[in-house]
Amino acid sequence: MTDRIIRVAEPVLDGNEVAYVMDCLKTTWISSRGSYIDRFEKLLADYCDVPHAVVTNNGTTSLHLALAAAGVSAGDEVIMPTLSYIATANAAHYCQATPVFVDCEPEYLSMDPEKIEAAITPRTRVIMTVPLYGHPVDMDPIREIADRHGLLVIEDAAEAIGALYKGRKVGSLAQGSSFSFFGNKTITTGEGGAITTTDEQYASRMRFLRGQAVDPAKNYWHPEVGYNYRMTNVAAAIGTAQAERLDVHVRRRQQVAQWYFDELRDYEDIFQLPHPASWATPSYWMFTILMRSDAQVPRDEWIQALSSKGIESRPVFYPIHTMPMYRPQASQGKLSSPFPVAERCAALGINLPTHGNLTRDDVAYVCEQTVATWTQLSNRKPQSRLRAA
Ligand SMILES: *Cc1c(COP(=O)(O)O)cnc(C)c1O
Repeated sequence: MTDRIIRVAEPVLDGNEVAYVMDCLKTTWISSRGSYIDRFEKLLADYCDVPHAVVTNNGTTSLHLALAAAGVSAGDEVIMPTLSYIATANAAHYCQATPVFVDCEPEYLSMDPEKIEAAITPRTRVIMTVPLYGHPVDMDPIREIADRHGLLVIEDAAEAIGALYKGRKVGSLAQGSSFSFFGNKTITTGEGGAITTTDEQYASRMRFLRGQAVDPAKNYWHPEVGYNYRMTNVAAAIGTAQAERLDVHVRRRQQVAQWYFDELRDYEDIFQLPHPASWATPSYWMFTILMRSDAQVPRDEWIQALSSKGIESRPVFYPIHTMPMYRPQASQGKLSSPFPVAERCAALGINLPTHGNLTRDDVAYVCEQTVATWTQLSNRKPQSRLRAA
């Protein structure tokens, strides 16, 4: 088995992808006009139970567009979890707004609703929620806080298409929800993104800014600064084929997650497994396990050991406030971090391979090696444990 590498992520392209891409090539509709753009947008909107979806060329531009079209600009503050992918903060930065970070809660790894209000100032415009690794965010308390303070809720749902919150689709829970279709995401267009919304005016503002803010009635006339964030028809052709089978793609991941739970059930004293909240149906973008805090295994050595067994894994994201450009000035030099939970989860967590091509045997092998490598590393000599600590 070690001659094969089990990838942490793989696209599954077993629908109409080839046929639809060939159609683009044969008809020469390969740029950002063509029927697949509309078809993909319609499928996404229908899937998320909202009237509008606006596709873009990646999941970072979709986030930027969602904020820009909401009027976020210089001096504004956007509240967001520190435990997320870098794009969440960068999107606010592109608007010349300031990302304001909030710690996460320890079970589902998303922004702790109880810590949000302390981060609100007169400059706050948006609360950006991030359903991390496919587990939805507890939106009701967050919507309540947002309503009370007159704030927008925009969701960076890049990792969570197909997840449900109290039976409702992620993508329908905020004023705008941004998705990514990068190659490792639940469905892919190679590179791609989208925003779903119920607000028609907001959707048309996003379409306007996406296409260089050209006046719809006057070609080459641009009344303000827009962007070229358009998706190509070729990418949308792949997306259309992917979205036609969205349920299948999500169900496969949920099946893989179930196998992981079955295989790792006896090791919950060592690993924290991603059990869903009572109100959540996760889509399991990544099956993420955390070492219990008393564990003494250096996470990166563990990743290396798994790699030597032919298993790719990933560390949980480094909290964004630890990156040089987002390090909060106020906390520098202070002894205690304002984000202890995020830092702890980030240091202890790894993503195991999660994609629709995995078999039950693959998952069994990954789990066997996950436990074996961890055990081997934790039984090392006491002095090496001390060095690691
Ligand atoms: C993948 C991802 C994005 C967008 O990434 P792109 O590579 O630009 O498509 C944004 N936020 C989060 C949390 C992500 O995981």
